[in-house]
Amino acid sequence: MPAASQDSFQERKRRLRASFIEQLPDRLRQARALLADLTSTGRQDEPLTQLHLIFHTLKGSGASFGFNAINASAKEAEQMLREVIDGDRRISAPLLADLRRHVQTLEELELTVDSAMGNDSHPCFDLRRQANADAELTAHNRLIYLCDDDPLFAQDLSEQLQCFGYQVKPYHALDDLRTAVLTQRPAAVIMDIIFPEGRDAGPTTIAELNTQLDAPIPCIFISQRDDFQARLRAVKANGRAYCRKPVKAVEMAELLDQLTSRGNPEQYHILIVDDDPDVAQFYAMVLESSGMVSRVVSEPERVPTVLEDFDADLVLMDLYMPHCSGPELARVLRQIPGYLGLPIIYVSSETDAQRQFKALEVGADGFLTKPIEPERLVTEVHLRAERMRTLRSLMIRDSLTGLFNHNTILQLLKVALASCQRSDRRLCLAMIDVDRFKSVNDTHGHQTGDQVLMALGRTLRLRLRESDIVGRYGGEEFAVIMTGLDAEQAKGIMDALRESFAAVTFLADGTEFHCTFSGGLAAFPEYSDPSALIEAADAALYRAKHAGRNCILIAHHQDADGVSALTHSS
Ligand code: GH3
Ligand code: MG
Ligand code: MG
Repeated sequence: MPAASQDSFQERKRRLRASFIEQLPDRLRQARALLADLTSTGRQDEPLTQLHLIFHTLKGSGASFGFNAINASAKEAEQMLREVIDGDRRISAPLLADLRRHVQTLEELELTVDSAMGNDSHPCFDLRRQANADAELTAHNRLIYLCDDDPLFAQDLSEQLQCFGYQVKPYHALDDLRTAVLTQRPAAVIMDIIFPEGRDAGPTTIAELNTQLDAPIPCIFISQRDDFQARLRAVKANGRAYCRKPVKAVEMAELLDQLTSRGNPEQYHILIVDDDPDVAQFYAMVLESSGMVSRVVSEPERVPTVLEDFDADLVLMDLYMPHCSGPELARVLRQIPGYLGLPIIYVSSETDAQRQFKALEVGADGFLTKPIEPERLVTEVHLRAERMRTLRSLMIRDSLTGLFNHNTILQLLKVALASCQRSDRRLCLAMIDVDRFKSVNDTHGHQTGDQVLMALGRTLRLRLRESDIVGRYGGEEFAVIMTGLDAEQAKGIMDALRESFAAVTFLADGTEFHCTFSGGLAAFPEYSDPSALIEAADAALYRAKHAGRNCILIAHHQDADGVSALTHSS
């Protein structure tokens, strides 16, 4: 990409600098007026605070935009005022003279957009380019190389992974893998660690290969080894995951999904609160350049309203703002249900550890000190937003399948139903249950049973539309909520899923087996509240089991009266 977008970044940065320069005289005039007020009497909190805020902001923005000259003068003035505000220093004639001198220094600076010293070619834009290049290369690219010196193992795992829609080529010699990668780049490599060539030959080969490639190859290491050295080697070879053998095909498929980023790459939503619109725009620009979505708010009082429709993963907040400080805003948010866990990070030129600590006490999660390098801003924000998503998903997701858990799916059914009632749209609830699952457990063991459940969860998640909601309702029972479809259309979708799941071959101890599921479907508006929908879908599921399993039945009111209208599918 993006010479174009790189240019436009420079262009936008120039514009922000220009706007900063334009506003500077005004800010300094304000500072002079406040200083004049101060001379008359002794202690005056209001003008002192305002003056402090002006220098503080100048220091921060000056640094952000690369005007080092501003930074130095504003920093000294800010420090002096801080001491006065904290009561460590009195307002005196020499102090005021010093402050005026600082204002004058700032007034005399001849700033031009080009006089900024900042280095504009920050690596975070390479990150973006990297992400795009990866996405382009791997979009629909299901080619995976698997390299293990045990040919049987390589063959076996490759075949299992084919069940999950990947095209997997097994290799058992390092040289063959090397040639293959250099001839046609795969979406990812699954690599063993120990080879006849050496105990670390796997990672060593990948590291060597990476030096010959434009971009490192996404790699998952698998090994019997579990020592720190092996893991470290793997990380140094840019390994993205490390799995101990024995490897489960389903888990490997999950990892491959993440690596080849099927579905949407994570787009974190960041809310930026800063009373200085230029600074806020600057952060927005940096974050957006690395693929995040941002929203800027300059008035703290608007934050709760904006949060209602901007589903923020994280709030980036200025520390000093007039009327409402960062910590005050943080406290307001913490008192609103739903925002208790929202990560808040302050961005400020405050370097005093004591004051930073006080600001964090009210329930914020971090502190970034201005001037902040774009690269660091992106890394810090990304890291925290990611952790937030993980935590949130631990609470609402089932750990085995990664689907919504029982409580969450019930909540979501309520919400979806209410929304369909308002907008007069249809909704279908399907309850599905694995057929004769007890015998899978009994025959092949509980672990294999778990793999079947994971595979079903995965089939449902990947094959349904983005708008459909899937949850694990209980043991081997799943619930699917589909909106905008009538019962017959929903049945068509569920039947297709049923058939493709039945076609998946499972392997346990060398024996192959297949699984099926049955389903019951109930539709709104025929059933108009959550419990009626669940009850009806459950009853239809029960009938499906009695009708011989491996089929989907639709619930109708008359069924309850025994005037059953069975609609078989298979
Ligand atoms: P049907 O076709 O009538 O549904 O028969 P079934 O054997 O699937 O139904 P039943 O309800 O008798 O057995 C369900 C089994 O599912 C019993 C339970 O041990 C097993 N099960 C429930 N949750 C899990 C799980 O998380 N992992 C595994 N492996 N088994 C589970
Ligand atoms: Mg069952
Ligand atoms: Mg059951």
